[in-house]
Amino acid sequence: MILMNAKPLIEKRREFLKEKTNALVHTLGRAPALAVILVGSNPASQIYVSNKSKAAESVGFTSETFQFEESTPPQKVYELVQQLNEDPAIDGILIQRPLPNSFSNQEVMFWVLPEKDVDCLHPENIGLLTSGLPRFNPCTPAGVLLLLDFYQLTVDGKIACVIGRSNIVGKPLASMLLARNASVIQIHRGTKNPSALCKQADFIFAAAGSKKLVQSDWVKPGAVIVDIGIHREENGKLCGDVDFESTSPIASAMTPVPGGVGPMTIQVLLENTYQAAINQGS
Ligand code: NAD
Repeated sequence: MILMNAKPLIEKRREFLKEKTNALVHTLGRAPALAVILVGSNPASQIYVSNKSKAAESVGFTSETFQFEESTPPQKVYELVQQLNEDPAIDGILIQRPLPNSFSNQEVMFWVLPEKDVDCLHPENIGLLTSGLPRFNPCTPAGVLLLLDFYQLTVDGKIACVIGRSNIVGKPLASMLLARNASVIQIHRGTKNPSALCKQADFIFAAAGSKKLVQSDWVKPGAVIVDIGIHREENGKLCGDVDFESTSPIASAMTPVPGGVGPMTIQVLLENTYQAAINQGS
C-alpha cells in the first residue's frame, strides 16, 4: 500500500513558491498579501487560521488575521471585507468557515471580490471552474489532485466515488474529476445504500465530515482512498472519515490523517494568493 504523504510534495512546491515570491517582490515592490477573517472561537478554526498565516509567512507573503467575537453582527464583518476588497495592497481574502448561525452562507459567498477569492467560493469562480476556465483552484480539491499526480495515480477512465457534496469540497472535486475523465458517483446524506455504491469505485474521496464512516465493506480491493475528513478522537489523536485500520490492508494507496490532504489545502491557498498578486500587478 502506498501511503500518500504530502510532505515531499509540499517541500518541493513550497521551495519553488518561495523563489518565485522573492522574484515577485522585486517586480511588484511588495510581497503577496493574504487577509484571513475569523469569527468566533471554534478551536479547530483557530488552528487552521494560525497554520495558514504561518505557511504564508514561511514563503515570504505578508499575512494579517482579523478576529471577531462570535456575537459580531454580520454587517460589521461585511464592512471589513469591503475595505479589504478595495485595498490594492491586499491580494487574497479568506473567510474561515464555519461561520456563526447569524451569517447566511448564501450571502457571504458573494462578499469577497472574485479577483481576491483565493478560497474559490464565489459563484463567479465556481462557474469559471465548471466551465473549464478556472481563475483559482478550489484549495482542497486541487490539493487532492496534486497529491494524486505526485504519486502518479490517474483517474482517467476510472470510477471515482466522492462522499459529500459541500460547495467547498464535494461539488468542486466531483467537477474536477469529471474534467479528468473519471466517471463520478456522488454520495450524500440522501443516498440509499452508500457502501454498495462506494464499493464500485476505483478511487474513493471521503469528505462527509463523519468520523470513520468508510469501513472495509465500502472498499473494493485495490482502491485508492483519499481521506479529506479531519476529526479528533477521544485520545486526542486526529483521524479522518475513513477507518484507516480496517481499510488500509485492502487499499492500494491511501492518504494519512494528518499529513495528507490538510497540508495540500494550505499549499493551494498559497499558490492562489501568489496568482492573485500576479493578476493584480499585471
Ligand atoms: P460539510 O459538512 O459542509 O459537508 C459534508 C457533506 O457530506 C454533505 O454534503 C453531506 O450530505 C455529506 N454527508 C454527511 N454525512 C454523510 C453520510 N453519513 N453519508 C453520506 N454523506 C454524508 O463538510 P465539508 O466542509 O465538505 O468537509 C468535510 C470534511 O472534510 C470535514 O471533516 C472537514 O473537517 C474536512 N475538511 C478538510 C479539509 C482539509 O484541508 N483536509 C478541508 C475542508 C474540509
